[in-house]
Amino acid sequence: MAAKYWNEKIECMELSEMQKLQSERLVKQVTHVWDNVPYYRKKMEEKGVTPDDIKGIEDLYKLPFLSKADLRDAYPYGLLATPLTDCVRIQSTSGTTGKRVVSFYTQNDVDMWEDCVARSIVAAGGTKDDVVQVAYGYGLFTGGAGLHGGSHKVGCLTLPMSSGNTERQIQFMQDLGSTILCCTPSYAAYIGETLHEMGLTPDDIKLKSGIFGAEPWTEEMRQQIEASLGIKAYDIYGLTETSGPGVAFECEEQSGMHINEDNFIAEIIDPDTLEVLPEGSKGELVFTSITKEAFPLLRYRTRDICVLSRKKCSCGRTLIKMAKPMGRSDDMLIIKGVNVFPSQIETVLLKNFKATPNYQIIVDRVGTTDTFEIKVELSDDMFSDTVKDISTLEKKLSAEIVQILGIKAKITLVEPKSIPRSEGKAVRVIDRRKLV
Ligand code: ADP
Ligand code: ZN
Repeated sequence: MAAKYWNEKIECMELSEMQKLQSERLVKQVTHVWDNVPYYRKKMEEKGVTPDDIKGIEDLYKLPFLSKADLRDAYPYGLLATPLTDCVRIQSTSGTTGKRVVSFYTQNDVDMWEDCVARSIVAAGGTKDDVVQVAYGYGLFTGGAGLHGGSHKVGCLTLPMSSGNTERQIQFMQDLGSTILCCTPSYAAYIGETLHEMGLTPDDIKLKSGIFGAEPWTEEMRQQIEASLGIKAYDIYGLTETSGPGVAFECEEQSGMHINEDNFIAEIIDPDTLEVLPEGSKGELVFTSITKEAFPLLRYRTRDICVLSRKKCSCGRTLIKMAKPMGRSDDMLIIKGVNVFPSQIETVLLKNFKATPNYQIIVDRVGTTDTFEIKVELSDDMFSDTVKDISTLEKKLSAEIVQILGIKAKITLVEPKSIPRSEGKAVRVIDRRKLV
């Protein structure tokens, strides 16, 4: 039988032992950063903290936060903690929000990152007998490199497709018998759609699972992808600042992602008061890298909104779990004063209306009033006994959106295939207000 864990000792470690490990690593990391990163040392001095104040994870709260603004200030080398000659790799954010962030890796950093991804591949049922099709973009983006490296670690046969050329993806999938697909969830949905358009069914391919991440996706979208490709779809989370994908990964329970807390300490804070919130509270996710050498960010504010849980998991792993992020605080739209996450809209569309995951949210401002429109592609599945025509459908959709969000959206049903498909991170929101 295939191994269930990549690193059982760590993944199933007793909490007290894990906390001891984290404490030792944190103390060492704080000294490393203090000694080698003048930018962070200055931040610590401003807060009146020195490495002597940090005796273990119970003192984590004393350290200053780092934010995206710090990364911009310190760009490109200001947060580097090792000589550049010790670095072997640079990766960069996809630039979804503003200026790109660059991150540096020593060989040990790359090994740690790939090891985290290997845990994710094994949790998704991967073994050395699998053929892993990596359809995340290759290049500066961490998606391709991360899954590629993890796949090598596990010993899988790795197919470095990168994203795009969807028919060729399916051709190779058939010819070479890919068993695990790795890409963004929106690209997985597109691959599923294309498979069916090519007159094929999941029986024509050998895929058994998929590892999808890099953008928010709902449970409803998971179900659609699983059905269209005939697989189990697992979530994976990460960000360039903390290495890339693999900071957290989903297990067979498919109810949140285990955080690799031997490398990353997670906290949830209130983004307004910066207060650390107890387990189970919803707030902003903050990570402290305790093993990274070249780019060790301490208390880095991700801006991703989610919840942590130590509830016992049926897979046997003891690593803390994070719920699917709702999105990042900067994805949150404020429309007519109301907070709106695209994922809330996705749930209504996919769950209650059987829409495809092809929708777009368009926000604009006329005078001083916000306008809010949701474009949804029509599909036959959206009609039922009670919903027989387009205007009834629009009315029903509109009513549910009001119920969930408390504000009214103009619903526009558009022709199938008229909303652009994504091969990477999907663009769900067009906010024209920002262009003014
Ligand atoms: P960019 O900020 O340019 O998108 P990255 O490629 O480093 O740069 O993306 C990291 C971000 O992607 C995370 O902070 C998070 O918002 C999002 N993300 C990554 N994985 C997931 C996931 N599984 N679910 C939801 N969001 C995710
Ligand atoms: Zn689990």
